[in-house]
Amino acid sequence: MNKKKKTILLLLLVLTSFFIACSTYNKKSIPESEKNIIKDTEVNIPNKKEIIEKLSSDEFEGRFIKNNGNKLAGEYIYNIFSNLKLQSFLKTNYYHIYSYEDTADNDTTIKIKREASNIIGKISGKESKNAIIISAHFDHIGIQSGKLIRGALDNASGVSVLISLADKLKKESSRNSFPYDIIFAAFNGEEVGLTGSKSFVTEISGVYDKLYNINIDSVGYKDGEDIVLNHSFNKLHGKSNSSSDYDKLYNNLKKYFEINNLTTSKVSQAYLSSDDYSFQEKGYTSIGIIEKNVKKIIHTTNDIPEIIDYNKLELIEKSIYDFVVGSGDCLFK
Ligand SMILES: [Zn+2]
Repeated sequence: MNKKKKTILLLLLVLTSFFIACSTYNKKSIPESEKNIIKDTEVNIPNKKEIIEKLSSDEFEGRFIKNNGNKLAGEYIYNIFSNLKLQSFLKTNYYHIYSYEDTADNDTTIKIKREASNIIGKISGKESKNAIIISAHFDHIGIQSGKLIRGALDNASGVSVLISLADKLKKESSRNSFPYDIIFAAFNGEEVGLTGSKSFVTEISGVYDKLYNINIDSVGYKDGEDIVLNHSFNKLHGKSNSSSDYDKLYNNLKKYFEINNLTTSKVSQAYLSSDDYSFQEKGYTSIGIIEKNVKKIIHTTNDIPEIIDYNKLELIEKSIYDFVVGSGDCLFK
């Protein structure tokens, strides 16, 4: 073989291996005929406003982990996952029941075990080697000094985005499977020491070759200003964020937020740690999506549905959707 032929062959080999190694997800458009079928069989999934108003209502008692309202909120999310026909991550159903340590109601020196549930759904990919885990906690702090703390922003907002993403990504996957699993995790116990996510990270450990977590907590606030792509574990422990996986996740997310005209920042006025912390603690790559200016409003009686900017919430959802659809399996290379 002469030198020229050798060079051409080598070039072809490099190009072929590039296309095999990393393919972006090819979004298929919906044919007109199929649009009608989808419409006819669609169950009614509440929109983001309806979800936020429901989760913030008196019935759910501020969703404190030990209240009946927390159980009702879990059932509400469970039923929506069921209507969406998500697969279950665990063999049984969407409930991930876990136990956590607490103190007795009448004596805080006595430690006891209590049970609670996360709600976990899944869309299986063509391959299930890797996964993107989208999470949002549904619990809140309940009644404080006789006043109901509704938690519309913290974090009914995140749950509404989680459900809406599950709905849209499920429809997209029925036309064209994703090259990775997508897990939807509505976590419990965030407000009492991240108990739900800590337990779930143990459950998922070893299941995938690689996983990324995107955690949504307190988004769509009218005065929230920039979107913060937060890395709470490293921030709290004074560690650097630099790793190739972290950079890949951060840069990709930032790109899709900017495409949707949202400004991102790494700085939060509230040094919040949310469930993304539990993933980072165990060495998984994770980013928490919050907003710059939420500290003044969360955990107060002013955290009500009226403070939500639904146009902003829609753009946040679209940015995450575009990220999941647009990244393809290049994210995992
Ligand atoms: Zn929160």
